[in-house]
Amino acid sequence: MEMPAPNASVTANKAHIVTRLRRVLPADAVIDAPEETRAYECDGLTAYACPPLAAVLPATTQEVSDVLRICHEEGVPVVPRGSGTSLAGGALPTADSVILGVARMNDVLETDYDNRMIRVQTGRTNLSVTGAVEEDGFFYAPDPSSQLACAIAGNIAMNSGGAHCLKYGVTTNNLLGVTLVLMDGTITQIGGAHLDAPGYDLLGLICGSEGQLGVVTEATLRILPKPEGARPVLMGFDSNEVAGACVSDIIKAGVLPVAIEFMDRPCIEATERFAGAGYPMCEALLIVEVEGSDAEIDEQLNVIMQIAGRHNPVALRQAQSEDEAKRIWLGRKSAFGAMGQINDYMCLDGTIPVSELPFVLRRIGELSKEFGLDVANVFHAGDGNMHPLILFDANKPGDLELCEAFGAEILKLCVEVGGCLTGEHGVGIEKRDLMDTQFAPADLEAQMAVKDVFDPQWLLNPAKVFPLKASASRRAAQVA
Ligand SMILES: Cc1cc2nc3c(=O)[nH]c(=O)nc-3n(C[C@H](O)[C@H](O)[C@H](O)COP(=O)(O)OP(=O)(O)OC[C@H]3O[C@@H](n4cnc5c(N)ncnc54)[C@H](O)[C@@H]3O)c2cc1C
Repeated sequence: MEMPAPNASVTANKAHIVTRLRRVLPADAVIDAPEETRAYECDGLTAYACPPLAAVLPATTQEVSDVLRICHEEGVPVVPRGSGTSLAGGALPTADSVILGVARMNDVLETDYDNRMIRVQTGRTNLSVTGAVEEDGFFYAPDPSSQLACAIAGNIAMNSGGAHCLKYGVTTNNLLGVTLVLMDGTITQIGGAHLDAPGYDLLGLICGSEGQLGVVTEATLRILPKPEGARPVLMGFDSNEVAGACVSDIIKAGVLPVAIEFMDRPCIEATERFAGAGYPMCEALLIVEVEGSDAEIDEQLNVIMQIAGRHNPVALRQAQSEDEAKRIWLGRKSAFGAMGQINDYMCLDGTIPVSELPFVLRRIGELSKEFGLDVANVFHAGDGNMHPLILFDANKPGDLELCEAFGAEILKLCVEVGGCLTGEHGVGIEKRDLMDTQFAPADLEAQMAVKDVFDPQWLLNPAKVFPLKASASRRAAQVA
């Protein structure tokens, strides 16, 4: 993965920069010893690593503003960081950058059940947002599988989704407002406490902007009353294509399950060994969950079971109790950990029209043979958000490069069938150099012009999202 050379005048100026940062932050909030900055050298995409110049851990919006002002004045690149679980290398530092971590900013600032919203500092983890309101019968809907660890900051930057986003939408559909600090330290308020805020829809621009436009320090989130009940069904099929066709038929029928999750045989086997969830051994599994009152659940499942029946399932099991429902989800929720135990893997993230699932799954199988690397598939099938896990050996010379080339082919395939390069993990560095397969030069130029407005010196989260060639002149101007 090509990264630009660090700015030598910044690295040479480290002691001065750190001294200035120490003047505005408590002593333990500035980390510059090489053995400590290594903790920030990578995120969830561990194949790429580089220790930053320093890391800072502010606790308030004002401290974030002070840090950014100093870095702006000194020409220091800044990489915002939540919990560092990005699978796209979004929080990967450069050697001349300061990591700005929001982990200490994890307070609940306001809860308003009448208006169904909660305001939090963005270092708060996704699951603990629900944790703050669940006793009162509410929840925060977007549920990335990493929700125990990942922060609202990263969720907003990546517009993260999760298993239950088929019904409730992804982060952007559940975000009402943010406090955004610009690179020069200016503190701005975007959106508000209600769904429709006055002015331009800048919130839509900020959500999914991958730390390119500013640092989000506070967020107002929509919370929802917990549903009366939920019930998953486990369906086994004897091929990926048939399972894919079943997903497509469920969506076509107009029922709206809260989740449709897909796992193929390699993933089922690894998960069973890891979690023992009691899955049937078959080629492909679907978990379909619906919500509502008992009568509503029965009605929806009736339609879904009929559709599944037409695809000759080898297993069809409705959860009969809460315990059984938990076991059905246990395997899916353990899938990434299970795969990690048996191999190095790269988790891809692309989106396709649901009707293309059978074709794309077949083509991934063919590509797997061509590249000689195994693939396991586990993904949010209902919204066509695929996560092929390419298995490789990080210690075998050339395997990572082979894996990258295979991954690129899969993502190009997603674009070819009318989908897109990312569903929920973002572009980061992982898909940066594929952006021109999705966007024409004029489209990329328009997107970069937006960054010019928010971050004219191109100091925020450098070398991410835009192909290096496309952003070269802007980055060169910044170094000059
Ligand atoms: C096991 C596993 C499962 C996962 N499952 C899912 C899933 O189901 N759905 C999904 O969507 N993702 C998933 N992810 C990916 C990841 O968890 C999400 O992208 C998550 O939103 C990242 O949050 P984070 O706090 O860890 O962000 P980080 O990794 O720290 O950063 C992610 C991006 O956000 C930017 N950023 C961080 N903080 C700020 C800020 N304050 N202001 C502006 N920009 C900021 C960073 O610069 C970076 O570009 C998974 C990851 C793992 C490891």
